[in-house]
Amino acid sequence: MTEELFREDATLRECSARVLALADGGVILDRTVFYPLGGGQAGDAGALMLADGRRVAVVDTRKSKEHPGAVLHLLAPGTDASVLLPGTPVTAQIDWARRFRHMRFHTTTHLLCALVPHAVDGCSITADYARLDFHMSEPLDKEALTAGIARLVAEAHPVRHRWISEAELDANPGLVRSMSVQPPRGLGRIRVLEIEGVDLQPCGGTHVCNTAEIGAVVVTKIEKKSAMTRRVVLGLAA
Ligand SMILES: [Zn+2]
Repeated sequence: MTEELFREDATLRECSARVLALADGGVILDRTVFYPLGGGQAGDAGALMLADGRRVAVVDTRKSKEHPGAVLHLLAPGTDASVLLPGTPVTAQIDWARRFRHMRFHTTTHLLCALVPHAVDGCSITADYARLDFHMSEPLDKEALTAGIARLVAEAHPVRHRWISEAELDANPGLVRSMSVQPPRGLGRIRVLEIEGVDLQPCGGTHVCNTAEIGAVVVTKIEKKSAMTRRVVLGLAA
């Protein structure tokens, strides 16, 4: 079981931790700032720093299938992992520039949910672009959406998360915007992301603290993926 520090504070760039195990080509730590692929958001990359200054690169992060609740820090093929014995202290350090782009794009997908009042049936967030699929047949306007995002960014809305009970969620079914990605059940509580005055929905990803931090994100493309799917692609303005 890995303590997921990024769930409470997405701005943490590093943490001290200990190696619990090596498994599936990766390293399991007792705690981490590395976000594992999930909810459409890409996994983090970065490095594990050893006390003697050695650096072991982490190329991606996944949830462990073998060890439920554990986060797997994937190493490049051929990495000598013999220095990472169980109990070894490390400093886990994410590639912050890359993660901050994930956070900017991810928060923008929430703004899109507010601008496009239709159910979401797919989502992918990377450092270079993001895409969000809406279940709808009407056309969407690229310039109007870009202008809508720019307005919400300029308005500098605070972004925060809180935890609610499953009973509270059941009493508010409208909170679940996504058709394909339902919030995880059975943990007794669900993480809800609120962009003040704009959007509220269950989400476990990482976000900026204020929409002003998003900066210049634009809609680069709108695609008709099927009769009932419109895909909005986001990119960073040049
Ligand atoms: Zn989110």
